[in-house]
This record gives sequence, structure tokens and C-alpha cells, in this order.
Amino acid sequence: MKKQYAVIGLGRFGGSICEALRKQGMEVLAIDTNEDKVNRYASIATHAVVADSTDENTLKSLGIRNFDHVIVAIGDNIQSSILTTLMLVEQGVKNITVKAQNDYHEKVLNKIGAHKVVHPERDMGIRIAHNIVSKNVLDYLELSDEYSIIELMAGETVHGKSLIELDIRAKYGCNIMAVKRGEHIDVSPSANASIKKGDVLIVIGADTDISRMERALFDDD
Ligand code: ATP
Repeated sequence: MKKQYAVIGLGRFGGSICEALRKQGMEVLAIDTNEDKVNRYASIATHAVVADSTDENTLKSLGIRNFDHVIVAIGDNIQSSILTTLMLVEQGVKNITVKAQNDYHEKVLNKIGAHKVVHPERDMGIRIAHNIVSKNVLDYLELSDEYSIIELMAGETVHGKSLIELDIRAKYGCNIMAVKRGEHIDVSPSANASIKKGDVLIVIGADTDISRMERALFDDD
């Protein structure tokens, strides 16, 4: 059976989650207090309803506890976001993802039992900053305060070298998880795998180690 999702709040973030889930063929209930927004998503979501998610009875009548995953994408109104999350937790929703507006909001959401808290503006800001500093950094995912996964484009410095020659694990303490070449992805590449200019390396490691490696091997065109 298809997974059932509910998206509460149809701003830019909630709206794009709703569209992306539908494109992946998922069932999506879109909820917003704003009738215009609900009308806009009526043809995109599987169902779209005008409802206030801070109303416990409304959530119950929508059968929210039966959804596999509920995404709370209420931004500005932190009080509504917290209250909605609390009621979803109380009603036993299995997976709750909530968009946080700031660090305090995030802290409260974690405390009251949100399963995942996302911070899209902050995370995108970090990614863009990395990409601005080095155009070889294609993507960046913060795993914790110290560890990240990074996508790096191979340039001249590493072209034609094998992973054993580059010896990235010993020299920089980072691990290459995969190498993408066009459509092909080599997951857990062998030590003999040879790197070509334009390959994309997916690397995991401590931020300080990644930075050292980036400067030494990827700071070129
Ligand atoms: P974005 O940056 O994603 O555009 P935003 O941070 O500006 O969003 P808001 O506009 O504050 O977020 O909220 C997103 C949506 O959530 C709005 O369309 C708003 O009508 C809706 N919303 C706010 N409170 C509730 C609520 N209690 N129940 C349902 N929807 C709500």
C-alpha cells in the first residue's frame, strides 16, 4: 500500500514538499488555514483541506494518527508549530518532521518529541557558503557539529590518480563513500579505482579533515 503523508502549512517549504511527494507517487493530504493556498494545492495534493492544525478535534477528525508521516511546515507562527507538533505526538503519529524557524524553536521541538527537525534556510545557507568558497564543493550535508558528508568535483590535481595513490584516509582521515561518473555510481570504490577530472567524490569525515583535504586536492579547476 502507498504511504500516506500529510503536510501542514502550504508556504514555499510545505508546498514544495507536497509537490515533490506527489511527483514520487505518494498520497498527500495538504492542510492549511488559508483557503487560497488550499485551492492552489487542490489539484496537486491527493486531498487538500482548510483546517487549523492547532485544533485537536480537527486533527482527530482528519484521522491524522493513521498517516505514515506528517510534515509540519508552519514557519512564522512558532506557537502554532509547537502546539501542532505536541498534539501529533500525543495522538501517536509515527513520523513527525517539523520545520524549525530558529535554534530555540528546534530545541523545543526536539524536547516535545518531534522525530526530525529540519532547518532548511540554515542548511541551505551553509551549503551555499561552502559552494561559494570552493566551486568544487557541489553539496554538503552536516551530520553533527563536527562531521559532514561532502560532494566534491575532481579537478586536475587528482586526475588520473588511484585512491591508493591519493591515500586520502591515511593523509586526511576522510573516507570516500562513492564516486559518481555521469550516471554511474561506484559505491565503496576499491583502492585501485582511478579518478578522472569531472568525477564527483562523496566523502565523509570531520569538518577539519575535510577542509584540509579540500584545500590540498580540490582547490583547482
Ligand atoms: P515558507 O518560508 O515555507 O514560505 P513561512 O516560513 O513563511 O513559509 P508561514 O507562511 O508562516 O511559513 O506558514 C506556512 C503556512 O502555514 C501558511 O500558508 C499558513 O497559512 C499555514 N499555517 C499557519 N498556521 C497554521 C495552522 N495552525 N494550521 C494550518 N496551517 C497553518
